[in-house]
Amino acid sequence: MRHIENFWLDSNTSDKVNRWKCCGCSACESICGKKAIAMHVDQEGFMYPIVNRNLCVDCGLCVSVCPIINRCEDDAAYLKSFGGFSTNERIINSCASGGVATALSILTIQNGGTVFGVQYNDDYSSAEYIRIDSLDDLWSLCSSKYIQPSKSGIHALVKKELLTGHPVLFVGCPCDVAALRRYLHKEYDNLLTCELFCAGITSAKLLTDYRAIREKKVGSKLVALNVRNKDKGWFVQHIKEVYENGKIIYKNHFGTYLGYGFLAFRRPSCYHCQYKQNTTYCDIKVGDFWGIKNTDPFWNPKGVSVILAKTKKGVFALEALKEFKLYEVDYAKATTNNNGFVGTPSNALEAKRDIFAHEFIYKNLEEACRTTAPLSFWIKYYIPSSFHSALKRLYHSIIDKE
Ligand SMILES: Cc1cc2nc3c(=O)[nH]c(=O)nc-3n(C[C@H](O)[C@H](O)[C@H](O)COP(=O)(O)OP(=O)(O)OC[C@H]3O[C@@H](n4cnc5c(N)ncnc54)[C@H](O)[C@@H]3O)c2cc1C
Ligand code: SF4
Ligand code: SF4
Ligand code: SF4
Repeated sequence: MRHIENFWLDSNTSDKVNRWKCCGCSACESICGKKAIAMHVDQEGFMYPIVNRNLCVDCGLCVSVCPIINRCEDDAAYLKSFGGFSTNERIINSCASGGVATALSILTIQNGGTVFGVQYNDDYSSAEYIRIDSLDDLWSLCSSKYIQPSKSGIHALVKKELLTGHPVLFVGCPCDVAALRRYLHKEYDNLLTCELFCAGITSAKLLTDYRAIREKKVGSKLVALNVRNKDKGWFVQHIKEVYENGKIIYKNHFGTYLGYGFLAFRRPSCYHCQYKQNTTYCDIKVGDFWGIKNTDPFWNPKGVSVILAKTKKGVFALEALKEFKLYEVDYAKATTNNNGFVGTPSNALEAKRDIFAHEFIYKNLEEACRTTAPLSFWIKYYIPSSFHSALKRLYHSIIDKE
């Protein structure tokens, strides 16, 4: 039988290694007309496809749609590179970087279109791809959720929307954009894809366990969460937690179990991801403009996006943005300082991930952090984030002038 599970199992390498290549995009589930595939959550909290052999008719579609088994053929160079940020106060304060994803979303909706992006669920225990066609609903998409969202049903919904002829914007991780493009199997003029620079993604189980620890400690229910809050600036990534009892907590995100977990415990496929640098099917790729100096003309303390346009469609969309400052920059300047763009985590980090995962599954999140976190994490954990922000400011005031 040629179904997806067998494909992984039939390969020369071990089942574990092969299953770990699966990025959890759900394209195989979406393409199967017999509904023989369902995504199941494993012990680590990541979703994998499971095939019901009684329903499978051996058509092979699930194998042909997979964006991992089928290597990405598009490695053309980017047409243009930009730095930029939104000049709209609400957007720049709500978004993760310079707000280009939100600016593109607004443009799409104003042109009568729909946007697909990711929001948290109501109790902050998971995330999901959703469809938005109103500006009022757009704000739940803002900012990065570093946990992997569920995607069930989303590919068919995007296709349905494309067939209406209205503009459609899909924002997601590179493997999800690739999965969508393979699922659609043809070009649509009304589709614009915007993918994120992506260093990897962690599981919803990490957030669920973190929330439980925090709620117990604070003695109240978590009612709002943002891991890229800008109240204290953009350079040091702050988590903001709001509790039902009125308590509001800011912390360096990478000095929390959640932030450290995101760095130490990514989906296994992220440790050998092929969707890096030019290898992508997107129109536009966006991230944080790391390495920017406060002397650069496109500097903004509230956040700057790095933006790469791969297609002419992407360039047109960017040039049509309203309330957005767009500066063309050198490709090397835009990308060199971004580890998530340049490559995958090292073998040493992958080995450490296994230790984290073992402790996380068989003990708990706290133990996984205690066993694997380096001194630099504990400094961030114990020392207030205002100190890190001051250090960063000092660093930039000295280095950027040189
Ligand atoms: C898992 C992950 C890893 C990342 N790694 C890097 C990196 O290594 N380097 C880097 O420069 N940038 C990285 N980013 C991107 C960065 O954090 C910002 O998301 C990006 O710069 C967009 O910022 P913005 O201000 O334009 O977006 P905003 O205007 O804030 O909009 C955010 C957009 O991201 C989408 N989104 C949020 N969470 C997810 C998710 N879990 N999956 C798919 N889509 C999502 C939303 O739907 C929304 O459209 C990563 C993002 C994610 C989610
Ligand atoms: S019916 Fe086709 S698409 Fe569905 S699981 Fe079987 S081979 Fe895959
Ligand atoms: S990568 Fe996507 S299409 Fe391939 S097996 Fe995993 S979920 Fe299915
Ligand atoms: S690193 Fe690669 S596999 Fe992992 S979420 Fe990002 S694009 Fe997908």
